[in-house]
Formats: sequence, C-alpha cells, structure tokens
Amino acid sequence: MGKRTFNYITHIRNTSDHRPKFNRSWIDFWKEEAGQSSPKCCIYGCPNKADRGAHVYLDEERSWWIVPVCSECNPPDNSSWDVKANTIAVEARGSGQWA
Ligand SMILES: [Zn+2]
Repeated sequence: MGKRTFNYITHIRNTSDHRPKFNRSWIDFWKEEAGQSSPKCCIYGCPNKADRGAHVYLDEERSWWIVPVCSECNPPDNSSWDVKANTIAVEARGSGQWA
C-alpha cells in the first residue's frame, strides 16, 4: 500500500460504490494502514475528529487516495482543500469495486 504526504486534496465525486476489502469502512482501512487509531480531520484549520475516509486526489496527481476527514469536510463535489502538514494518505488500490 502506498502512503505519502502532500499539500492539498481534491475530492473525487461518485465514489460511494467503491468499498474496501473485508467489509471495513474507509476510515478503518485508513487507521489500519496508517497506524493511527484516532485521527483528526486532515483539513487545514478543522478541529474535528475524523469519522470517515474521503476519496481524494493529491496535489496534481490523479490516482485515488484515502484521507481522514469529518462530516463537514467531505462534500460530494470536486472541491479542493488545503491539508494539515504531515497528513498521511493511503492509496486506495484497485480501480474496481474492491480496494
Ligand atoms: Zn473537518
């Protein structure tokens, strides 16, 4: 699994049919891969705890990654957001239904 840091994200639309293996949620997938059990929302300036994983592009790259966000920071559109320094993104493998 790829992991990396980055400067900003762009949300990917229409990803609700894309599920991680083993019937996990995306935030559980992220916690296991990143090794962090109680992440904060990665969006710059947001103090909330992350309760979901968002599908995003990193910077100019156009492969799929997962980052931890809160409900307020996961809009169903393709908006771009700055992220906190040292946020870890985990690659969402697979272009099909299962990562
Ligand atoms: Zn947030």
